[in-house]
Amino acid sequence: MNKPNLYNLTFNQLTQLLTDLDEPKFRARQVWEWLYQKYVPDVAAMANLPKGLREKLDTAVTLTPFHIASEQFSNDGLTKKVLFQLPDGQYIETVLMRYDKRRTLCISTQAGCAMGCVFCATGQMGFFRHLSVGEIVAQVLHFARELAQTGEHVTNIVMMGMGEPLHNYENTLTAVDRLTDPTGFNLGARKITISTVGLVPAIRRYADEQRQTPLAVSLHAATDEERDKLIPVNRRWPITAVLDACRYYVEKTGRRLTFEWALIAHENDTIEQAQALGKLLHGLLCHVNLIPLNPTAGYGGQPSSRERVAAFQAELARYGVSSTVRVRRGIDIQAGCGQLRDRVVSGKQ
Ligand code: SAH
Ligand code: SF4
Repeated sequence: MNKPNLYNLTFNQLTQLLTDLDEPKFRARQVWEWLYQKYVPDVAAMANLPKGLREKLDTAVTLTPFHIASEQFSNDGLTKKVLFQLPDGQYIETVLMRYDKRRTLCISTQAGCAMGCVFCATGQMGFFRHLSVGEIVAQVLHFARELAQTGEHVTNIVMMGMGEPLHNYENTLTAVDRLTDPTGFNLGARKITISTVGLVPAIRRYADEQRQTPLAVSLHAATDEERDKLIPVNRRWPITAVLDACRYYVEKTGRRLTFEWALIAHENDTIEQAQALGKLLHGLLCHVNLIPLNPTAGYGGQPSSRERVAAFQAELARYGVSSTVRVRRGIDIQAGCGQLRDRVVSGKQ
């Protein structure tokens, strides 16, 4: 039960494990390539390892740290969502989105979430636990393996599944390092977006570390009065603190920030909110993603109409703030974060 998971090990730890198993060091490189370049599903498939070593490894470690509890395709077949169950009974979700040549994965960093955003299915279920590095990385390898069967690969990753990535800072960023390792999975750092609800000290730390992975901040409201209603953590780090940290990030890294904004009809989609947002972001190196709300069981809000979305966007443009309206992909399969677990576990529709 407590066997270490191979995806949790750094290359040095793997080398140490093989040394402990009385194996030569070069085996570590072979195992690493099987894991991160050939995406094998189990130790048995590591064909160039002697049978004896494969047996020793099988006894000493585990590989895939979950099983598929449920899978769903969107009606257009382009989006696939998988609910994985972990050995301790927790559930996490991962979504694959096909768009042109892109194969984007939306992955989870925690089981549940402690931030309690009222419109979010994950926030509504509460926090269960952080995911380990291996549990984060294994979601990507599951899909890499599947895509490889048709000659495709994962081109982008967004940390927008269940959980707050910067609340699980160490494991999330170690997973990023693992996935971008040139001797392993070798995904470009710019292809991995980290999305945060706005944990101010963590944003500052992230800026100080000068990381290449793009950052997105879920703002959703431009006044504390409005944001307090939607995002409880705003009481701890209000908008001025979040924006200060954002400006610090842009100054420190020279990188453009993305702001996420779920448009909720007659809630945060008013012209007043657009103007307040325009004033906040005016002059900052940033871009806004406008996403009509994905309705969830535990929240009464509705997505904004096309007209209201257009009016909001036009108002932002008057302040020189660029924005894109994102389509809600996979809405028919509850591809919004936390929504599949919700349906499977509690039978909600
Ligand atoms: N915890 C992180 C990342 C996971 S949530 C964060 O909050 O940024 C990923 C994105 O989905 C966030 O922008 C979040 O606000 C948004 N989101 C959550 N529930 C949503 C819903 N029902 N409709 C639209 N967007 C939603
Ligand atoms: Fe957590 Fe993000 Fe959902 Fe808020 S929106 S509850 S931070 S997962």
